[in-house]
Amino acid sequence: MQFTMSVNCKLIRRTLSYASSLTKNRYPKLKRGPYGSVTDKNINEFEKIVGKQRVLTNFEDVQPYNEDFLKLVCGCSRVVVKPKTVEELSAIMKVCDRDRLAVCPQGGNTGLVGGSTPLFDEIIISMSLMNQILNIDSLAETLSCEAGCVVEKVNLALEEHSLMLPHDLGSKGSCQIGGNISTCAGGLRLLRYGSFQKNVLGLEVVMANGSILNCMNALKKDNTGYHLRQLFIGSEGTLGIVTKAVIQCPVKPKSVNLSLLGLDSFSDTLKTMKLAKEYLSEIISSCEMMDLESMNVVTNKLGLKPPLDPYNFYMLIESHGSNEKHDSEKMSAFLDEAMKQNIVKDGITASEPSRIANLWQYREKAGIALVKDAILYQYDISLPVNENFYEIINELRERLKTMNNVCDITGFAHLGDGNLHVNVTSKEYDQAIIDSLEPFVFERVAIRKGSISAEHGIGFKKTEFLKYSKTMEAIATMKMIKEKLDPKGILNPYKVLM
Ligand SMILES: Cc1cc2nc3c(=O)[nH]c(=O)nc-3n(C[C@H](O)[C@H](O)[C@H](O)COP(=O)(O)OP(=O)(O)OC[C@H]3O[C@@H](n4cnc5c(N)ncnc54)[C@H](O)[C@@H]3O)c2cc1C
Repeated sequence: MQFTMSVNCKLIRRTLSYASSLTKNRYPKLKRGPYGSVTDKNINEFEKIVGKQRVLTNFEDVQPYNEDFLKLVCGCSRVVVKPKTVEELSAIMKVCDRDRLAVCPQGGNTGLVGGSTPLFDEIIISMSLMNQILNIDSLAETLSCEAGCVVEKVNLALEEHSLMLPHDLGSKGSCQIGGNISTCAGGLRLLRYGSFQKNVLGLEVVMANGSILNCMNALKKDNTGYHLRQLFIGSEGTLGIVTKAVIQCPVKPKSVNLSLLGLDSFSDTLKTMKLAKEYLSEIISSCEMMDLESMNVVTNKLGLKPPLDPYNFYMLIESHGSNEKHDSEKMSAFLDEAMKQNIVKDGITASEPSRIANLWQYREKAGIALVKDAILYQYDISLPVNENFYEIINELRERLKTMNNVCDITGFAHLGDGNLHVNVTSKEYDQAIIDSLEPFVFERVAIRKGSISAEHGIGFKKTEFLKYSKTMEAIATMKMIKEKLDPKGILNPYKVLM
């Protein structure tokens, strides 16, 4: 079978797609880079390296890997390669480097900024089969695993050693450790356990030319020159492909308490956060916020019973500790004070795992509910935590009020981390909505000295807006690093940097 990219793209355009035509229409200025096209010889080489079954070339097999979670970015790759070992991946990259073939590393494909799917015919490197847990050290509290391990499964394995991953996020059933590291994912408990920059102790990475960079350190302290692993954390597959990691894992808490609270105003959420930090102190593990509109979307679209009467805002405050009596006393003291000060109007608390999971679902499923039967335009921003934090949502409600296509404008936040998710949905894709949102949202963020990406990354969708959060010098330095590590530009092109 002989194929060329032009034939392939035509075929895909005919058979598809809503999403691919959207991508093409949305970014008409985007041009394919000066890359080689995959040939039969390349396919044979890949098949020799990993075996025939792990090189997908059938349209139906490849297509799910082409489309992103939000169904807004879609490439026309013809090939998915699924390595199982670092040596296989290294050999694949040597072929790609030799023939200047562009690649797109893909983890669980839950990314929200269009980083995990190709834009043209990049070869998709699926990491899903590099999914072995290599070691769990309960004394050193470290996990060593391959990049394709799915978060939820890793947590189940860690549980047997009374450990857990330091991070937790709504996509845990699909997203992978390598994807999390490459996006520097944040999530629900960063407030307590910190970011990947803190918790990744070691990494193994396959570089653009196929060489294997082994930084698989498991030490808590290692100050021997440049901290190379930090370069790859959050680099979204543009500097190297993460194949293994050592992660520092906290002890699984013996006691967990969760409160879901109803509040009248955003101002009260700030007072509640302050009070929670004061009263719960060292045991606070999460401080999340969602507005009434988010709660309505979750309950209406997913058919969940509202947990409380309607309030303008809801918060989830969680504690992780080791002494149930001590921890629940602290939680009760906090709630008593919050009610006494009249800043919390109502609430439910839980300490049983099933009840905790039940309460968490309102917040965890807020994102999934938004994409049900709708197109989601989401902005993941960091802002200084003050009275103006939520203002952007009100500004957008005012700005978009005459746009009939808009369904919901909602906000939910990792409030404890100063990270707001701004969400706008419409029934159908509408470029006019995007034109109203961009660069408006990014300009507002820059004026308030925030960041245009708190935890989702830059991917493909935000490359042109990077300048709102990085100086020209910083961008030039990033480009210099990219050119050094990936001189042919084959690693996830069109992402992070334009
Ligand atoms: C319902 C839902 C809830 C979410 N909640 C959160 C949240 O709370 N916090 C948060 O930060 N994010 C959240 N996300 C976004 C997403 O889950 C994260 O960005 C996650 O880290 C992506 O992991 P993944 O394995 O799916 O990676 P992918 O989506 O496959 O890839 C993401 C990026 O990483 C690159 N990549 C993937 N694997 C590798 C690898 N091994 N080596 C090099 N590069 C690689 C890809 O090329 C791409 O650029 C959520 C998404 C959904 C759908």
